[in-house]
Amino acid sequence: MNSGKRDAPPVPRALDALRRPLRDLRVSVTDRCNLRCVYCMPREIFGRDFVFLRHADLLSFEEIVRVARQCVALGARKIRLSGGEPLLRRGVERLVEMLAGLRGEDGTPVELAMTTNGILLAKKARALREAGLDRVNISLDALDDSIFRRMTGGAASIADALAGIAAAREAGLTPIKVNAVVKRGVNDGEILPLVRHFRRSGVILRFIEYMDVGSTNGWRLDDVVSAGEILARIGREFPLRPLEPARAGEVAERWRFADGGGEIGVIASVTQAFCHECGRLRLSTDGKLYTCLFAGEGADLRAPLRDGEDDEGLRRRIAGVWARRGDRYSQLRRDASGLPARKIEMSYIGG
Ligand code: SAM
Ligand code: SF4
Ligand code: SF4
Repeated sequence: MNSGKRDAPPVPRALDALRRPLRDLRVSVTDRCNLRCVYCMPREIFGRDFVFLRHADLLSFEEIVRVARQCVALGARKIRLSGGEPLLRRGVERLVEMLAGLRGEDGTPVELAMTTNGILLAKKARALREAGLDRVNISLDALDDSIFRRMTGGAASIADALAGIAAAREAGLTPIKVNAVVKRGVNDGEILPLVRHFRRSGVILRFIEYMDVGSTNGWRLDDVVSAGEILARIGREFPLRPLEPARAGEVAERWRFADGGGEIGVIASVTQAFCHECGRLRLSTDGKLYTCLFAGEGADLRAPLRDGEDDEGLRRRIAGVWARRGDRYSQLRRDASGLPARKIEMSYIGG
């Protein structure tokens, strides 16, 4: 029956053009970093003269929360703060506090996590936990200090990173996942030392295939150590058994040590694309929405946010971006035609 006043039709749970639901929102809270990892922000490009975004260009915490709220209304059940190095954003604990109470319209909680290099965690883990952060993923590519410094540009030591992991554990930001990117000839000799170190520790170690993100890291296929090779090397010393995915849209292939030593994972983004399951939406530091890690362009939300768009309008805008999404870069990687000439850097859209 027509009541006279026409209500706006309800926004359905968002599905993209390939019928993938929106599951995760990743927010880059800063494009700056205290490290210079060779595969992400190589020092030759991100040197002293590199011009980062001005503070006025960054989304404010209030603006981030407005976007996050609408993504949750559209189905997202996980928010991950990333960067750059998220712990460099001044007052990030306040943002965590503002996001921590978000719930889906059906009352389901939203998991709030952070990906960090861990260098500042020893100082900040407790405050983050108290503000409502659920968990952290910590990036660590080597245990040997000279290899760690070579991978990360030399500005911090392995002791800083390990202190960060210990602090996260003490603060209860668990289960902790440690992510290691493997670059052939640089840190592939660290695969087994990392496994030996984290086995039986409760920390879940995951190896990530080195990806061709951005346009600055000089990626070559020859530098990639495949997940298959990584598993074979581990399996020779520690027999492994497969595990089922923990949840829908899980990107890591999970394995357990046959002797009960815990769990490890591999993220085969290059050799076994998981685009068909990908439900990630990324919000860049300056407020653009990217529907793929390898996207060339994002949809600007900052202008409408600053021009007074209301929540309903914002939700429709985000829903529209998701509905048009057909990205599956990793599946198409072999056929480079039609891919963006210049890809966006990971530090800017949040890894
Ligand atoms: N600074 C934080 C950190 O390192 O955890 C968060 C941002 S960083 C861009 C997020 C993740 O992206 C890290 O785990 C990092 O190892 C990963 N990453 C960056 N560049 C990569 C590449 N070329 N291939 C695979 N993973 C990459
Ligand atoms: Fe910084 Fe993380 Fe990129 Fe390393 S991977 S340069 S820590 S943003
Ligand atoms: Fe998702 Fe794009 Fe990565 Fe595929 S390539 S898994 S669509 S982010």
